[in-house]
Amino acid sequence: TKAGVKSAEERLMVAVRIRPLKADEPQRVLYASSKKSVVIEDDTDKNDVLRHKRGADKQYSFDLVFAENSTQEEVYEITTSALVKDVLSGYNATVFAYGATGAGKTYTMVGDPTAPGIMVRALNDLFKAVKDKEDQYSVTMSYLELYNEQIRDLLNPSSGYLELREDSRGRNIQVAGLSEISTTSTNEVMLLLQKGNKARTVEPTAINKTSSRSHALLSVTVKHTVPIDKKNHLRMRIKQGRLFMIDLAGSERANKTKSRGKRLQEGAHINRSLLALGNCINALSEGARYVNFRDSKLTRLLKEALSGNCRTVMIAHVSPSLAQKEESRNTLMYADRAN
Ligand code: ADP
Ligand code: MG
Repeated sequence: TKAGVKSAEERLMVAVRIRPLKADEPQRVLYASSKKSVVIEDDTDKNDVLRHKRGADKQYSFDLVFAENSTQEEVYEITTSALVKDVLSGYNATVFAYGATGAGKTYTMVGDPTAPGIMVRALNDLFKAVKDKEDQYSVTMSYLELYNEQIRDLLNPSSGYLELREDSRGRNIQVAGLSEISTTSTNEVMLLLQKGNKARTVEPTAINKTSSRSHALLSVTVKHTVPIDKKNHLRMRIKQGRLFMIDLAGSERANKTKSRGKRLQEGAHINRSLLALGNCINALSEGARYVNFRDSKLTRLLKEALSGNCRTVMIAHVSPSLAQKEESRNTLMYADRAN
């Protein structure tokens, strides 16, 4: 990427990834109709000749659509490799995985040892880029969970709830006591992420035996020490770039899960943060002068990464199955609004 100011299109990319249909999901209602569009078929009687006249099939358009045969490598290269370069040059950047539970968010972000996801590949590329330059660069990572507006350290889950601190002008936001670790092994990163994911809060709800109601935020900080003046190498300054990679909570609605009591409150928090995030991204994409980051901890944490000359990628995940038609429609509508 050229150093310098990015256009609105360069700053926000909205992609959709369709996961493969599973063996126990007989009916497909959703498919990629081009490299940039997704169709949800009307599932009423296929012999109904008026169906097409009514225009019941709905098409949604995005910057990019990954069909179900897309590979982990392809998804990483197209969505995130440019962000890794930005971060090495001292910019911030963010990748979000959005979608209902079971739509493929964690597969895209973490994956498995045979098909590593975005988080693992990005860290691998960052470590490769700074290899043998340890005197100039430091790369550290943290992994936290946001659940019910509370923050927990996924690399040290026993440390309890952590506080979000900011100065009186709402700048310099930090999580007090969060572990920042440095590792250069891809294997170790995969193990840390998998272990961290096991520590994520998982609660039973009516439709899912387990439902991910928490956001998982991986933050990678690159510090680059550069001489201020080429002749005098003793005067140094630090350029810092940060890459956020976020596995968002399931976007399904609280009411559909027949949540009661505690569950309902969790649902309300999740909807609040996803709504706040959608509003911020929407405002940023429209070039709004004032963007309200204060409505949720998620948007407060991401304020610096979302504003200014930073790239944001939203990957919305959908299942092609009839059983998830409503969730898929909601996800495509959310992503369309962010576009
Ligand atoms: P989420 O994190 O959105 O709840 P997961 O990533 O856990 O969903 O995906 C649900 C299931 O579908 C998992 O078993 C996962 O391995 C599988 N899956 C998701 N996306 C893909 C894909 N693109 N290719 C193959 N399997 C996938
Ligand atoms: Mg998940």
